[in-house]
Formats: sequence, structure tokens, C-alpha cells
Amino acid sequence: MQETYSRYELESTLLQVAGNYSWTWDLQARELFNRLPSINGDAGLHPAERIKLLTEDAWSQLLDDPDFKELARQAHSRIPSPVPMNSDNTVAYFSPEFGVSEMLPQYSGGLGILAGDHLKAASDLRVPMVSVGLFYRDGFFVQALEDGEQRERYVTNNPRFLALEATPARVELQLAERKVTARVWRADVGSTHLYLLDTDLEVNDERGRRVSDRLYAGDREHRIRQELLMGVGGIRALRQLGFEPAKFHLNEGHAGFLALELIADEMAKGLTLEDAVRAVRGRIVFTTHTPVPAGIDRFAPDLMHKYLDVWAQRYGVDMSELLQLGVLPGSDDHFNMAAFCVRVAGRSNGVSRLHGEVSRVMFKDVPGGPDITSVTNGVHARTWVHPDLQRTFEDTLGTDWHRSDASRWSQVDQISDDTIRHHAAVGRQQLIDMAHRQIGAETGLNPDVLTVGFARRFATYKRADLILTDLDRLFEMLSNDQHPVQFAYAGKAHPADEPGKEVMRRVIAFASDPATRGRFVFIPGYNMAVARAMYAGCDIWLNNPIRPREACGTSGEKAALNGALNFSILDGWWDECFDGENGWAIPSSADDNPTLRDREEAEHLYNILDGEIIPLFYGDQGIAPSAAWLAKVRHNWKTLGPFVTAARMVGEYSERIYQLATDA
Ligand SMILES: *Cc1c(COP(=O)(O)O)cnc(C)c1O
Repeated sequence: MQETYSRYELESTLLQVAGNYSWTWDLQARELFNRLPSINGDAGLHPAERIKLLTEDAWSQLLDDPDFKELARQAHSRIPSPVPMNSDNTVAYFSPEFGVSEMLPQYSGGLGILAGDHLKAASDLRVPMVSVGLFYRDGFFVQALEDGEQRERYVTNNPRFLALEATPARVELQLAERKVTARVWRADVGSTHLYLLDTDLEVNDERGRRVSDRLYAGDREHRIRQELLMGVGGIRALRQLGFEPAKFHLNEGHAGFLALELIADEMAKGLTLEDAVRAVRGRIVFTTHTPVPAGIDRFAPDLMHKYLDVWAQRYGVDMSELLQLGVLPGSDDHFNMAAFCVRVAGRSNGVSRLHGEVSRVMFKDVPGGPDITSVTNGVHARTWVHPDLQRTFEDTLGTDWHRSDASRWSQVDQISDDTIRHHAAVGRQQLIDMAHRQIGAETGLNPDVLTVGFARRFATYKRADLILTDLDRLFEMLSNDQHPVQFAYAGKAHPADEPGKEVMRRVIAFASDPATRGRFVFIPGYNMAVARAMYAGCDIWLNNPIRPREACGTSGEKAALNGALNFSILDGWWDECFDGENGWAIPSSADDNPTLRDREEAEHLYNILDGEIIPLFYGDQGIAPSAAWLAKVRHNWKTLGPFVTAARMVGEYSERIYQLATDA
């Protein structure tokens, strides 16, 4: 067969591998694309694009390489096949953002990454799932640094360069006085399909075309248009494509308006609004992510009237009754999307045990609201673990190491100290190389030094500048040449978040201070690729939010799988996973005064860092990380490995939340 592989066949095989986003987590496929001859300037391109740019010389070279052709054949055979879907078993997952790959820049932060990981795990577990979101022409902004602060640049995405397939679906939607048409793109993510609605069509006027222009940009009116498009338009798109899902899973409340479409169907059968709400509950599942009422998506009554009077009139509903469905008791008269979702969903959940408790209090007075449970978020292991370490796990735990239970994870005892040290050293070096590429200059980072990482959105509650509370203390650590420590920071602030940007200015200013000797760096251009290199290259993963505002947090789970030890406030997932030995907890202060609270928590941070973490890392045998440190790394894997995966998470959703009639 290999001998008869024609250029056409090889190209078609490669394009099919690149055409399913499973290539982003399949080791063979990643290896395959790493071996493609690289052409100047194509490093950041989607492999589907790189394949089209190959020269005749490159093709002859590949056709003469039997190993490459064999790898292509294997990668092709590993593309997951679709799962049969019917109206008894299909779950439709709605999310405003999807972090599938840095090559498909349709995400902003944790919510989107979680959505991407959810689909990938659903594919691995063969849960029949389709998902729906918007295709944002300009995605979310790309970050650069200029004059000590973040500059936002938008890059226009061409769906044809991103392995998106056009579908025949055309969705029409009335948005106030304007009728808008959307087309629907399809991305294959393993065995699942991701459908993205796009209004950038000639038939729409200028304003209509811009409905899906950017993620989390624009005013409230722009947002309500996007959310109607995603919710109502999303359901119509699925129907046109032949799906009648058994369950609709809302990842945060942004697509909640889909309930209106389902409610309308029930009312068309003669039910009252109240009975229709009751009737749709069995099909809707809502996951809330926001522990603070101010963070929830809300719309003022005048906006609701402008966009929903049409709907109310058509179904003979009194608008005040509809508005009532979105009231969060104890709050104002705004239509609160989360309160609405809690009312129309048969099952709602928070994303960690602690966040479940917080959510039960927050929504306790929502009438008819169901009990709110929790499913702790997890991460897609094969996406996030460094490929070299994955090989070690494959050899030690088995090829499906990413779905191991506790007894299988206990076999990490067989991984030698030297092997773990080797992975850590490679990870640090690659992190440093990545940092230097992003920064455009060398720094003082050293591959043999204890490395502390911090990377996430710069929302103020995450307190990226907590480490800067006592600069004398920090400089003392940064100037220690006996037991050195270095810091790598990264993250984006939302363009409209002025306080978040102020925090970032402080962090960047500190990183630029020559007195840090280049041992504290801020890495610009945060995205999934930067994040991956950081998880694999850090020894300590730092997280210091204001408790209990971090609903779950997932970056620490990714770092843990890569062998980094968590050093975190007891919030979100860490509150339930810290066992006293698998990392470190930063105690939270009971002080109501924010300044005093921050000072007290920072004090704990410094004390643990220089009193426990640094001494343990260097030990007294002259070899770092010490054997005692590595024992802790193994304990981290044993306790967290079985729990922090998206496989565990999606398994829980399937069993406890979706409860499909026919289990796949
Ligand atoms: C995991 C991840 C996040 C979420 O990090 P948190 O610590 O949970 O806030 C955000 N952005 C990217 C790119 C990620 O990979």
C-alpha cells in the first residue's frame, strides 16, 4: 500500500487528519505535523494550511519517507468516528466560547477552555454530543505589550483556514427591527461536532453582519443580540441540521434564551407559560460559573422589551410575566440570565463543591429553582500534559493512562527520580525558550532554578499582584543565589476592565525592574500554547484569588498533571482536593478590610515559599529537585490524577446530570 501512495492520496490523508481537531491531542498526529517541512512564517498556521503550502520538493521528500507515510496512515486510522445520535440520547452543549486549540481562537479564558475540554472528553467517552456557539470573525484579542501595558489587536479569522466546514444551514432571526441571517460552520472535535453561527453574510446589513464580530466586546445591546443568536438561532440551526437533542446543556447562562424556543413549542400545544416552563425543565441542564451576583450577565428591562416584545406578543405572553422569570430575588429588576436558567433548568450545578454551596445560597430564593448540585471541573489530560511525560505515563500506567483510577495512578511509584527530574528540566528549558520568543529578548531565567508560575485572566479577584505586597521580602528571595527562585507570569485583562489593567501595569512594571535580575518575567501573548508550556515548565503553580470567588479554577489541575505542585488559596477545586501533602494551602484571612486581608494572606504566601517550598526543592543533598520533593510530586499524581480529568467530569455529568435514556 505504501508503494502505491500517490501524492494525491498522501495529501488527502494529511488533510483528513488536520480536518479533525483530534490532531491537537493525538500524539501521533502531533508528531506527524511536527515532521512536516516547515516553511518560513508558517509556524503558527493550522496544519491544514501548512499542507496546502508544501512545495513540490517537499512532497517528493515526504513520498520518499516510508516512516512518514506510516505515521500518516496510523494518525488517520486514529481519527475518532462519529457516534450515532438520536433524540433519546443526544446532548447539545451551548457555550459562548470554545477553547479547542490556539489555532481556533474562539475563547477568552477558563470558561472556553472548559468547554473545549468537555467536548474532547465527551469524544473519548463516546457521549453523543453536539455543541453550539458563535463564530467570532475577530475572535478575542491578541495581546502585545507596549509602554508597559497591554495592547489589544484583533486578527480577522478566515474560517476556510481553520478546518471549518460550511454546512447548508441558514438561520433567520428577528433582532428588534432587523432580520438577521446566520450561516453555520462545523468543526469536528473528535467524534463530536461543534457548530458555530456566523452573521458575516452579504444578505445582512452592516449592523447585522457585526452581530458575531467579537467575543465579549461591545455594549449590552450587542450582547443581547449575540445571546439571542446563540440561544434561539442555535436551536434552529440544530433542527435544520437534523438534531432534536434530548438535553440542552448551558455552559453559563449566555445561551439561556434557547429556553424561549422550547417554551414556545410547548405553548403552541396550548400550555400556559408556567406549564410550558415546567414542561421544558427535563431537557435543560444549567452550569453556573459565577459566584458573585455582580458578575452575572443581566439585561435592563428596556432592552428586554426592545428584543422580546415580539416573542411575547406572538405567544400571547404578558411581558411582565416573562421578565419575572429572570428576577434574582434581592437584586434589582434586571433580567438575570443565571436566575432565568436556574428556573428553566431541571438540573443546575456549580463547578466545585465549595462553589455549589455558594450557588445554593445565591439562588436560594429563586422560585421553583431546583436543588443545585456541583460537578467539579476537570481538564482534558492529553491536551495539557507534555508529550514526553505522556510517553512516560503510557509506559507506566498504560496507553489509556488518562482514564486511570487511583490504583493505576499508584504505579507512578515506578517512575524514577531521574526520569521526573529529566521531564522537569526539559519543561523548564522549553518554558524559557517560549518566554524568550514571546518577549523578544533574553531574560535571567535559568533552567535549573525553582520556577513559580502564575497565568490566568487578570480579573481583579485573582490578585495577580498579591506577590508584590511586600517588595522587600520578594527582592530578598530574588537575590538569593544559594537557593534561587524565579517567577513566570502571564495573562490577559479584559479590554474594558480598567482595574484589571492597572494590576497588569503593576506586574509588568515590576518585571521590568532591573533589580529583579530578569528572574521575574511577564510573558505577553497569553493563549493555550503559552499556557501549555507554562504548566510543563513550572515546579510550583501559584493561585491566590479572594476566597470564594474562584468558582473552580482549572489551570492548577493542568499543572498538577504535569508534575507541578499547587500552592494555592483553599478555593474552588483546591478546597476539596488539597490533602495536606499534595501541595500547599495559603490560609485565607478572616479580615473584612481588603488591605489587611491581602497583607495577611501575602505574609502567609512569603512564609510558606521561603520557609517550606524553597528548602524542600533544594534539599541538602546538592541535587534539585530533592528526592523528598519528587515523592511529593508522585503523591500529587496519585491523589489528583484520578480526579482532575475531564474524563471524570464528563462521566459525572453523564451519570448524575444528563441521565440519558440510552447510555452510550
Ligand atoms: C486553563 C486555562 C485558563 C483557566 O485558568 P484558571 O486558573 O482556572 O483561571 C485560562 N486560560 C487558558 C489559556 C487556560 O489554558
